[in-house]
Amino acid sequence: MKQDTKIVSLGRDKKWTKGVINPPVFRASTVVFETMDDMRHAAKHKTQGEMFYGRRGTPTHFAFQAAIAELEGGVGTALYPSGAAAISACLLSFLKSGDHLLMVDSAYEPSRDLCDKLLAGLGIETTYYDPMIGAGIAALIRPNTKVLFLESPGSLTMEVQDVPTLCRIAHEQELVVMLDNTWASPINCRPFDMGVDISIQAATKYIVGHSDVMLGTATANARCWDQLRENSYLMGQTTSPDDVYLAARGLRTLGVRMAQHQKNALKVANWLQGRPEVDHLRHPAFATCPGHEFFKRDFSAANGLFSVVLKHGDLDAITAMVENMQHFKMGFSWGGYESLILGVFGIESIRTATRWDKTKPLLRLHVGLEDADDLIADLEAGFARFNAALAR
Ligand SMILES: *Cc1c(COP(=O)(O)O)cnc(C)c1O
Repeated sequence: MKQDTKIVSLGRDKKWTKGVINPPVFRASTVVFETMDDMRHAAKHKTQGEMFYGRRGTPTHFAFQAAIAELEGGVGTALYPSGAAAISACLLSFLKSGDHLLMVDSAYEPSRDLCDKLLAGLGIETTYYDPMIGAGIAALIRPNTKVLFLESPGSLTMEVQDVPTLCRIAHEQELVVMLDNTWASPINCRPFDMGVDISIQAATKYIVGHSDVMLGTATANARCWDQLRENSYLMGQTTSPDDVYLAARGLRTLGVRMAQHQKNALKVANWLQGRPEVDHLRHPAFATCPGHEFFKRDFSAANGLFSVVLKHGDLDAITAMVENMQHFKMGFSWGGYESLILGVFGIESIRTATRWDKTKPLLRLHVGLEDADDLIADLEAGFARFNAALAR
């Protein structure tokens, strides 16, 4: 099956849908059994799509899990109430007191906070590494290093990592490699072909696609699936079937949405590249983005999310620009159908293995499904306000 066919078809098994198109919302805590034999059978197959108890999932969950596992290319997918919960459950499922973690310096800020606040308190030590370190990662691996965590491209600064090289070296020391794969979504790269053991998605973003549900997924290979599934279960991780239903519904249009996000974002990015205010683009498809060569090698497409570094500017000028946009709304998260803009300050305080030039402001854009020309006009008016504020 080609990918667009998979996006439409996977998980829609009749044993879960009973023949309707979308797997329905199937709510449950208790599941009752007629006989001891039925109960024993359900217990034996509770991890293979048999109803056992609500926390183990219902057909709504099983259908979505099957679709994500196959799209990502792993053997099983666990669900979590948010992307952040997926990240913490993955780390806590594979680390214990005395272990050492290698975390990418360009990680999503709450991932860093988890390491510095919660994992540190449990006696798990974190070393941050330069996202562009490549084979140099070998020098940071200690006898007690258990997990190598990647996020590619990185949050805000968008460095694309050499994932196959990092996986190869980590596996020589039997580390578990986890990738926050949210930017690619399950369709724009092949994490397991590159050697990743666990691929994490903030499904909140492009899978849900409509900015109205929080959800996380973690898909594992055969080496890690049992441990991830059972430890997540022990931590009581469970998700609402209503949320999973909406995510499954969003998934069916992921392919066409991603293609349009990419097209619009490339048009906006090309326009931005010609602007006098712009220092450089942090868009993986542009040569000015660190790791652009790995984007070309490892990804099949981009999406709507990228950053742009300005030559200069201050809080007042950025404020004048972002507070008065017509289409680009100000707010966290991304991956919905709508355009978003953030003026980001203080990146230097969330980078310790690399340096960030704080004199150059960064704008993070999510280009939505509006007409790109309207978005460009919005940015053009924004730059006029920016320049007027700078001239004051
Ligand atoms: C948004 C995001 C998360 C967290 O997802 P939530 O569902 O908001 O908890 C994790 N990683 C990346 C890269 C993200 O962009």
